[in-house]
Amino acid sequence: MISKNTVWCRRKRKQMIKKFGGKCQKDSCSKKYVLEFAHKTSNHVNGIGRGSYYRIHDVIVNPDNYFLFCKLHHHEFDREVKTNQKS
Ligand SMILES: [Zn+2]
Repeated sequence: MISKNTVWCRRKRKQMIKKFGGKCQKDSCSKKYVLEFAHKTSNHVNGIGRGSYYRIHDVIVNPDNYFLFCKLHHHEFDREVKTNQKS
């Protein structure tokens, strides 16, 4: 059964993807499917699986904190962020 929240999340997610340009923001990629929001500074809010409501809510409230990436570049970006935060 799909809860109201899930429908809300899906709708809002679509709206936000459109707002972000509807494609992966990585230069030379521009993929228009399997898009995810990547947090610019940390990934403590995990939008994969659980917590998607909080993630999309945060994207709506703080759009400046996010990039829109395809799945591949989201993982690549998260790896880079983690490496940069090691110091
Ligand atoms: Zn990409």
